[in-house]
Amino acid sequence: MKTNGKVKLALVLALSIIVVISIGFHRNRSFKYKEISYKQFLKRVEMNLVEEIRLDGSDKLKGKFKDGEMFTTDNPRKEDFKEFLLLNDIKVVEDGGKGLLNQVLSFLLMLTAIGGVSYIIRNSSKQAEKEMTKMSDVDAATLTEGRVTFADVAGNEEAKESLKELVDFIKDPEKYLNYGARLPRGVLLYGPPGTGKTLLAKALANEANVPFYAVSGSDFVQVYAGLGASRIRGLFKKAKEKGKSVIFIDEIDALGKKRRGANSPSGSEEGDRTLNALLTEMSGFKGNEGIIVLAATNRIDTLDEALLRPGRFDRQIEVGLPDVKARFKILKIHSRNKPLSEDVDLKKVALETVYFSGAKLESLMNESAMIAAKTKAEKITMDHINKAYFKVLVGEEKKDRTGISLEDKKITAYHEAGHALVAKRVSDSIRVTKVSIIPSTKGMGGFSLNIPTDKMYQTKKDIIANIMIALGGRAAEEIVFGKDCITTGASSDLQKATKMVLAMIGSYGMDDQLGLLNYDVILNSNLNNDISLINRARDILEKYYHNTIELLEKNRVYLNMIADKLIVKESLEEEELEEILAK
Ligand code: ADP
Ligand code: ZN
Repeated sequence: MKTNGKVKLALVLALSIIVVISIGFHRNRSFKYKEISYKQFLKRVEMNLVEEIRLDGSDKLKGKFKDGEMFTTDNPRKEDFKEFLLLNDIKVVEDGGKGLLNQVLSFLLMLTAIGGVSYIIRNSSKQAEKEMTKMSDVDAATLTEGRVTFADVAGNEEAKESLKELVDFIKDPEKYLNYGARLPRGVLLYGPPGTGKTLLAKALANEANVPFYAVSGSDFVQVYAGLGASRIRGLFKKAKEKGKSVIFIDEIDALGKKRRGANSPSGSEEGDRTLNALLTEMSGFKGNEGIIVLAATNRIDTLDEALLRPGRFDRQIEVGLPDVKARFKILKIHSRNKPLSEDVDLKKVALETVYFSGAKLESLMNESAMIAAKTKAEKITMDHINKAYFKVLVGEEKKDRTGISLEDKKITAYHEAGHALVAKRVSDSIRVTKVSIIPSTKGMGGFSLNIPTDKMYQTKKDIIANIMIALGGRAAEEIVFGKDCITTGASSDLQKATKMVLAMIGSYGMDDQLGLLNYDVILNSNLNNDISLINRARDILEKYYHNTIELLEKNRVYLNMIADKLIVKESLEEEELEEILAK
């Protein structure tokens, strides 16, 4: 018995070592190596920043920048690649044969490891759990780099306000518990890449003065069976040991994708297991630990609903692209330590960088500095910034000098002004909290409505109001630019309007002509070739569209004022809109 146990222990240990080694072989995305795209790599070569490349026949190249940073990128496997490197004065280290050997070896190791891990899982779970937790420790690194505060994040005022509340909660959870408050556990930050989600999470940890654990959802995919779930458990265990902390899960969509039916190919069993582990850990909080889990995604619509339920990521905060004012602030933040020449007008730069994310603005200033350094100029000039501008835009679809043409800006401004104005004119109880021509995750431009939710039922009047608001964008385009110049920008509006009309007359019996019939029932029966519903819906939509046009024509002065202001400011807050409407 005793010897048997020892043998087992030894076996487990040996296998664990193999697992660790083989992971070492396979981890291209290890801490030391920054992963960059091949295109970025070529750009760095062109900028003469690469010192050394290691060629070993594997899928990934490893190399070193002149500043000492290590990176990895895709191996193009081109025949004259080595010559290309040498011609660019880059040192080439080859271990071709060894590379092949490495591959074979690591393949064998992998096979053993996979077998080993499943053996471990099946047989001696306790010991295995210990070993796995050990491994997961490696992933949960505490952040020690420069202290980021909320002052380092420009724009996104609402997001910052929301997170500032949490600072107090992390510092003193007992205070809230004493009042019987249910404490937040998970907060989801969503919005386009490079808008400062990671930055906000770091700032939260820093301002609350607690450790910051960052992982990425993509680290959990394609790992060996059971390891993803175990890593999650290890991460939370470690965070709990430290007491208070902020856990940040970037790209949460990678592990929390919508589960589409049991036999869908996308729903991997392994991903589900990892996701379940996360949900279990989050439900396991008592709430007084002072641990907050932040997650980030670019695509909230693809997330599994289970993640968004109460007690999980039930607070959702949008982090959007900056408007001109925020862009100016971001540019200022990222020129703090840079010598700018007198001729640099950051306000002008902000005006010309519509649709730029914070990350892109940061890289604009950084490129400018590099160009200035390369030419040994005394200071960074407008000329450098202009050159950098095109460099930052390299590889993106050809755009106008300003990122967006004035014409597009004008169309979007009138479109959004149309929505907002109709909303304010069709009902007294609807609040428009923001109008903006900066695209949001939800669509083209954006406007936020606050529809009173203290009602149990929607009346026919409410639905009509909403239909007209949805049509307001297209109607404004038609009035201002003419029938032949209407754009494709209204497609999601029309989708919404169509859905509402169909529901109104087909489900809720709110049309005199079609009466009280419920068409959902009819369409599901075998009497479903009745097109009267569609015809009728089209007529009704037409009628409300006409009403919307009339309404906007009557309010044309206001439409122009709102649109003009939008063109200059890109986004208007509620008060600014009210001010215009009060004129
Ligand atoms: P995300 O997590 O949303 O993809 P990050 O937080 O990683 O974006 O942003 C990348 C970098 O871009 C930041 O480190 C910062 O330099 C810059 N940046 C992005 N958004 C902002 C912002 N709102 N204010 C200041 N800098 C920003
Ligand atoms: Zn619209």
